[in-house]
Amino acid sequence: MKELEGKVALVTGAASGIGRAIATAYANAGARVIVADLAIDAAREAAASMANGALGIAMDVADEAQVDEGFARTARDIGPVDILVSNAGVQIISPLVEFAFADWKRMLAIHMDGAFLTSRAAMRQMIASGRGGSIILMGSAHSHVASKFKAPYVAAKHGLLGLARVIAKEGAPDNIRSNVICPGFVRTPLVEKQIPEQARELGISEDEVVRNVMLRDTVDGEFTTLEDIAEAALFLAGFRSNALTGQSLVVTHGWHMQ
Ligand code: NAD
Repeated sequence: MKELEGKVALVTGAASGIGRAIATAYANAGARVIVADLAIDAAREAAASMANGALGIAMDVADEAQVDEGFARTARDIGPVDILVSNAGVQIISPLVEFAFADWKRMLAIHMDGAFLTSRAAMRQMIASGRGGSIILMGSAHSHVASKFKAPYVAAKHGLLGLARVIAKEGAPDNIRSNVICPGFVRTPLVEKQIPEQARELGISEDEVVRNVMLRDTVDGEFTTLEDIAEAALFLAGFRSNALTGQSLVVTHGWHMQ
């Protein structure tokens, strides 16, 4: 029997990058996967590339009605969710004194409101099913460290640690675990976009951004890979007791050591 056989896993932001890699790994491990992303075409296209009848649905994680409807549809068509990966995210870079309030609010809406709304919906299903489950929030090295020009991102990613700890405490009686994965830089579209932006802000070359900003504090100058994060997500999803809950798993080539 495969590791996640019989499980239903909903992954947000799974049409691209880290979410897509995790969703693919879960499907290969036997889970029925729901690829939830902003655009239905991208979500369907990603789901079609995955094993085990993955389903693509449109969901803006910052929109309460869309989140609740997406979870209701999942329960109706596939079954209650056993695993949530709250992963959808974007990056907006600017010095704090120039940060537009609208951009700050958009960042917090996607990262914090999105994590709250999807966790709430998942917990309701996990409690009603009596099966409990695993909630994984996609943090970042920036859940533990700060970088210039990323005020709302760093604030939101730190905030996810608090949210996961509350879910761990409130969820324990129903066998719901919650943990945060904290990746270092992974070369996804989110990061590729930042390299020229940071080069402009800092007045250095793109190569220097990679070497002297993104990978400077790693032990080996290496990017974290999609496979690294998918493996960590598989481990947390498959972990069977509350021994491992309320934690953050830092996967950064030693950039941050806790
Ligand atoms: P990505 O841009 O490749 O993918 C992000 C996905 O999220 C896209 O498919 C996008 O459509 C979706 N999305 C954006 N806003 C959404 C919304 N409101 N509702 C639903 N879906 C939405 O990015 P990625 O690098 O794979 O990032 C995924 C997560 O990993 C993010 O939370 C990011 O902060 C985190 N992270 C990334 C890195 C990295 O280096 N790439 C490092 C640490 C943490």
